Amino acid sequence: MRLLMVSLFLYCGLVFAHEQDGSLYSNEFLQKLIKLRDQALSDDLGYRITESLTTEVGARLAGSSNDAKAVAWAQSKFKELGFDRVTVEPAKLTRWTRGEETAEVVTPYPHQLAITALGRTIPTPEAGITGEIVHFKTLADLEAADPAMVQGKITFISNRMERHQDGSGYGKAVGARGTSAQVTAAKGGIAAIIRSIGTDDNRTPHTGAAKYDKDIPSVPAGAISNPDADLLVNMLKREQPVTIKLRLTSHWDGEYTSYNVIGDMLGTSQKEQYIVIGCHLDSWDLGTGAIDDASGCGITMAAAKLIREEVGPLKKTIRVVLWANEEYGLSGAKAYHEAHKKNLANHILGGESDFGAGRIYGFGTRVGTAAMPIIYKIAEILRPLGIEYSNNQSWSGADLIPLRKAGMAVFSLHQDGTKYFDYHHTANDTLDKIDPKELAQNVAAWVVVTAMAANTEHDFGFGLTDPEK
Ligand SMILES: [Zn+2]
Repeated sequence: MRLLMVSLFLYCGLVFAHEQDGSLYSNEFLQKLIKLRDQALSDDLGYRITESLTTEVGARLAGSSNDAKAVAWAQSKFKELGFDRVTVEPAKLTRWTRGEETAEVVTPYPHQLAITALGRTIPTPEAGITGEIVHFKTLADLEAADPAMVQGKITFISNRMERHQDGSGYGKAVGARGTSAQVTAAKGGIAAIIRSIGTDDNRTPHTGAAKYDKDIPSVPAGAISNPDADLLVNMLKREQPVTIKLRLTSHWDGEYTSYNVIGDMLGTSQKEQYIVIGCHLDSWDLGTGAIDDASGCGITMAAAKLIREEVGPLKKTIRVVLWANEEYGLSGAKAYHEAHKKNLANHILGGESDFGAGRIYGFGTRVGTAAMPIIYKIAEILRPLGIEYSNNQSWSGADLIPLRKAGMAVFSLHQDGTKYFDYHHTANDTLDKIDPKELAQNVAAWVVVTAMAANTEHDFGFGLTDPEK
């Protein structure tokens, strides 16, 4: 906090100088923007777009028949909303298809487990696998285990994800989903199950991608619901062997071409400079992908549309990208980076809405120092929405990783994710989990940042040091 105050103090003079000579923003623009910001709070366009995608397409697993339906939906929605230019760009992927998924405790206390296959898992034999459970509290415990303990067994990691507003419990817990299958295989185990990476108490297991590499041995892997994980832990406490039968027929299924769908609201004086916002178009297949990530599409598409309608065309182009296959490959993100390699520096600032539709409370950036006066001005216009500036170490969304690593400046609008991981990647990720008023507040915030970024002649720095480098 102290650092922020010092830097605010240092930049005050600069902001003031800009305002004096009018080179930051005109009063007319700011008045229109503030009016739109406040109107957006009671506008339902973002919600209607979200409802349309979850109703008319529904689940959108990359490579499934609904993938193509989602691409068609996105093109026609962009056109209906009046975007100046709508394009699609191919994103190749190896398709993973979900099969049947069942698990049951065979001994000592027969019980049907609520399980879902982890994304990218290999299948069990058609008849299933039966084996004794070996229990580890955490992934680190499994990693440290003597292979003799794991040999011939089904591993089970019971660590529970913590609930936090910023979703930080996810990063701490998700490693088990990523690598337990590979670690189990390396120690001679026959399958891996984990407690779902989720904060709910429902019998709705959470899917999500496991790491996969055709050159690294792996085993079939699934996640069981939180109540089932509790039950298994209680059985294991009785210090007698617990045997389960697991049948997962999900499998890899050949090559597929999906598409990034791009809607541009063209700029005036700097048409070739892009403010890149958006969401991922794909989702997992268990629910309708409402909070992950139809709401992000609704929020960013609506923001661009409302800006054009109420404020007019701005200096730079607002580019809304609906990314392909974020969930199990970042296929669209990688393909875009490859296709635009020659003009990456034209990508001035990027943000992705991919954390549901909860109320936004924070604004973070990763921009060059020279752009901070603009950022503080944006923060000032965001403040009446209950949003405070956080810091200049923003990471932004997963689909922006390749562009961010190439040096693009990014921003994040931090959403309240207290309940997000109750539903994330489950059959419960459906439209009823979205509060239309909270979603509208998101649209208002995206309107402010996007319009102000697009209506300055300045850039936000390029070639910034990446947090993961
Ligand atoms: Zn997502």
